[in-house]
Amino acid sequence: MSAPPPFRIGFGYDVHRLAEGRELWLGGIRIPHGTGLLGHSDADVLLHAVCDALLGALALGDIGKHFPDTDMAWKGADSKKLLSAVVALVKQAGWAVGNVDCTLVMERPKIMPHVPAMRTTMATLLEVAEDAVSIKATTNEKLGYVGREEGACAHAVALVYRTA
Ligand code: MG
Repeated sequence: MSAPPPFRIGFGYDVHRLAEGRELWLGGIRIPHGTGLLGHSDADVLLHAVCDALLGALALGDIGKHFPDTDMAWKGADSKKLLSAVVALVKQAGWAVGNVDCTLVMERPKIMPHVPAMRTTMATLLEVAEDAVSIKATTNEKLGYVGREEGACAHAVALVYRTA
């Protein structure tokens, strides 16, 4: 068998329910809104999708395996800590993050004004330049659970490259 390529890609997907009385955290940023995402951690659906994309790139399982929602250590956790832990795993395995591209699907609020702060935050966590972090957002055209504002989902792809 010939040597494997020095790059790998991964895909991540996550969904969280929206609920009243919760803070809305997306891309590591707190966004003022009437509802927030529900979860064991801060439920940052965007960072969770990125975590799964990175874990997927190295076939290291998924976020539920590394940070089980039965573990009280992660109760109310800042998802930035989860992403940092995943980046540490990537580095330990001899890889680094190349770039990530994600799409957040959510009816409200408007995401675009918050994207610059999300990119800065995520680039720092991922140890990449800001132009290696792409964040796109779309509504679901009022269709389905996203359209009814019952929840939000995020998709992400990540490329990692071998460093060792
Ligand atoms: Mg999640």
